[in-house]
Amino acid sequence: MNVWNIVDSSLVNEDREYQENRKAKDSWWPSEALGCRRRAYYDLTIGRDQGKAMDILGLYRTKAGNVLHSWFFAAVANSGAFDWVEEEWAFRTPVDGLEMPVSGRQDVRGQLKGSSTVTVIDLKTSFGQNIRNIRQAGWRAIHPHYLGQMLCYLAFGSADEVILAFLGRDDQYRCQFTLTLDDDGRVVVDGNRSRVSVESVVGRWQDAEKALREKNAPERDFRAAIRDGEIVRFFQRQGKKFASDWQCRYCPYNEHCWADDLAKYRSGVNQEAFNDV
Ligand code: SF4
Repeated sequence: MNVWNIVDSSLVNEDREYQENRKAKDSWWPSEALGCRRRAYYDLTIGRDQGKAMDILGLYRTKAGNVLHSWFFAAVANSGAFDWVEEEWAFRTPVDGLEMPVSGRQDVRGQLKGSSTVTVIDLKTSFGQNIRNIRQAGWRAIHPHYLGQMLCYLAFGSADEVILAFLGRDDQYRCQFTLTLDDDGRVVVDGNRSRVSVESVVGRWQDAEKALREKNAPERDFRAAIRDGEIVRFFQRQGKKFASDWQCRYCPYNEHCWADDLAKYRSGVNQEAFNDV
């Protein structure tokens, strides 16, 4: 008996079942607040047919993250720190200027003892340089992508504040930040105004909805490095590194989106795509 064959198959079957039961997209999700407009366009057009299934390493990565998150949120929810607490709280909120509502799920939300505000707790886990950056630079190193997601909880998910916790998966470094929205709709992190605002997030989604009406895929917001017909983490030329954005590496449409370059650079690298760097 090979135990890993059994576990691999169980992960693949679980994912297949999830994909088959997935509803067609009909709302904007917090996790894509500052995501790629073109990817959103693909989600809404070719999504169900052309999106690639995740590879087995991706399935393990996701499963490990999910297990860690479940354990973390159960520990927080059962800590006795709240007057009331809810888990897996879902919202679906219409937004001025958008055709689709914003919908999402907050893992843990509640009122901390003695507080009159609603606090959402969220966890991000990461490895290596990402966590080292946060350790060194603090809130400034938080990826805007995460701030966009938390903004949705604050602006559209009726939260007054978010406690955003980080855990280093390789060094167990732990820290947290408190996020609120100011009167201009900007995310404030531990008292510092960030650049991420309701206006910037809604503006991106408006662009994607316009592209959909015009049936015209938007420009790419991210970039893939291609070498010999494959999307790679990076390639080097004349001592310079040209790296794929992680959004493209993990995008289920990357082969569709970059089909022309994948064919054109069957041998060689797509340095042209980095001309403006
Ligand atoms: S491959 Fe990159 S640019 Fe293309 S849709 Fe996906 S994230 Fe956007």
